[in-house]
Amino acid sequence: MRKDSNRLIYGYEKHNDKIGQATEEFQQELEQKCRELSAPDFSSMIQVHGNTIITAQPDRIHPDCDGLITDQVGLMLFGSFADCLPIYVWDQTKPLIGLAHAGWKGTAGRIAQNLVKQLIDLGATDLHAMIGPGICRQHYQVSAGFDLEAKPINHRSMLKIGNNYFFDLYAENQAQLKVYLKPDAIEISPICTYEDGNYYSYRRDQKTRGRNLGYIMLK
Ligand SMILES: [Zn+2]
Repeated sequence: MRKDSNRLIYGYEKHNDKIGQATEEFQQELEQKCRELSAPDFSSMIQVHGNTIITAQPDRIHPDCDGLITDQVGLMLFGSFADCLPIYVWDQTKPLIGLAHAGWKGTAGRIAQNLVKQLIDLGATDLHAMIGPGICRQHYQVSAGFDLEAKPINHRSMLKIGNNYFFDLYAENQAQLKVYLKPDAIEISPICTYEDGNYYSYRRDQKTRGRNLGYIMLK
């Protein structure tokens, strides 16, 4: 998935099995991707399923965070994903963008809202968002009582079919974003990573290290 306009590029691609590790090789992979996408600088993160958002610094792999924001043109923000949702946010007119990693723990920590709130604090007034690709509800079975930990604000995010429970990361993050964004400013990816062989899936691939690369940059 790649969207490319005159002021913004964002995307999501299967990458390799070394991504997301704080290694020299990871750094080189990101530099290679920057050349491919004509990105002058980049910033990435080593994610920990938390809800911390950081102001991205050029040529840094930030540890211990799950979201990056920037107002800098030409600074590519990277994150790595496999089933967890990438959440891309941008202002329609001002140079403000963000990228967050939302698994169920980050979702419970309201990371999507943290991301949006920080951009609003920086002056964003017309934010738009893209949620996903990630795992769909049908393929995201969870245990009973999961909703007590995940604390969804959308009561429809948790579904019970027989004795099985399923969680809708999409619906929950959409509900969180709707607190701040107009409904028609939120796009939802139709891609389920579990179903689509073009992407790595943590659940389908039996927890191998394969990751997909999510990215966004202001031009
Ligand atoms: Zn699915």
